[in-house]
Amino acid sequence: MTREILPADPSTPEIVSDPQAIRAAVVAARAAGRRVGFVPTMGALHAGHASLAARAGTECDDVVVSIFVNPTQFGAGEDFDRYPRRLADDCRLLGHEGVRWVFAPESRTIYPPGDATRILVDGPARRFEGLIRPGHFEGVATVVCRLFNAVPADVAYFGAKDWQQTVVVRRMVEDLGLPIGISICPTIREPDGLALSSRNAYLSPAERQQAVGLHESLLVAEQLWRNQEPVDSIEAAMRAAIEARQIRLDYAALVDPVSLEPLDVAGGPAVALVAGRLGSTRLIDNRLLAARG
Ligand code: AMP
Repeated sequence: MTREILPADPSTPEIVSDPQAIRAAVVAARAAGRRVGFVPTMGALHAGHASLAARAGTECDDVVVSIFVNPTQFGAGEDFDRYPRRLADDCRLLGHEGVRWVFAPESRTIYPPGDATRILVDGPARRFEGLIRPGHFEGVATVVCRLFNAVPADVAYFGAKDWQQTVVVRRMVEDLGLPIGISICPTIREPDGLALSSRNAYLSPAERQQAVGLHESLLVAEQLWRNQEPVDSIEAAMRAAIEARQIRLDYAALVDPVSLEPLDVAGGPAVALVAGRLGSTRLIDNRLLAARG
């Protein structure tokens, strides 16, 4: 999963746990005229995360990657406790990407004792993942906002893999007037098309074979979209492709890429969103579909 060919001479990122210390370092770097890029993650890093750090490295002078498994974005009964945590491996990988700082805060510094403030998200946050995981995007928006306060970078990098998350974060940045740019990077995939995800590690070998059904459904969607098929028959074909791999379907939909509402212009552009479960593992994926004539 991680890259096989790594630069010979990796640097070692500095690990910073204190929000005030990382903030001071970023402010000083920017005051010295350096452009700072920020990649928020929950760790258990793979080549998808590395691609965000690499993009940040090409566009910025200094890169900060945060590693924080955010408790408020997990619902009761979700995988917060068993979410993989491997800081040493993560730092090694980030060293190969030339990352300057790894911000790995303790929970009590992000959520101080007595913490009682949340960011309420509406609109696109209420659909799809927001319906299935109540409170998830409130937790995401809250932590991203707090991380942006600790890491006042020029630009933050997010993966298109979590399409709805990018929509929610962009909305929040615009609505709150947060002084940071948002850059969305392409989804990195396994050779068979499965999107890289820290949660793929939960899959049994048999489930790993089945998991490609999500990507297959997106390829079906793209083909039918190009063939000018109507949206409801495309969605039916996506559902069939997912169920053919015995993935328990959560949703398969073609919607407006920004509002996540049903398409009001039949020609798009559109985003195909899919989610399903294999055993106790939830997987999501998506594909942007260019406007059709
Ligand atoms: P996570 O650690 O899962 O919170 O992800 C941190 C960031 O990495 C998010 O912006 C994700 O969208 C992004 N990401 C996760 N998987 C991939 C992938 N396969 N390709 C590109 N970006 C990804």
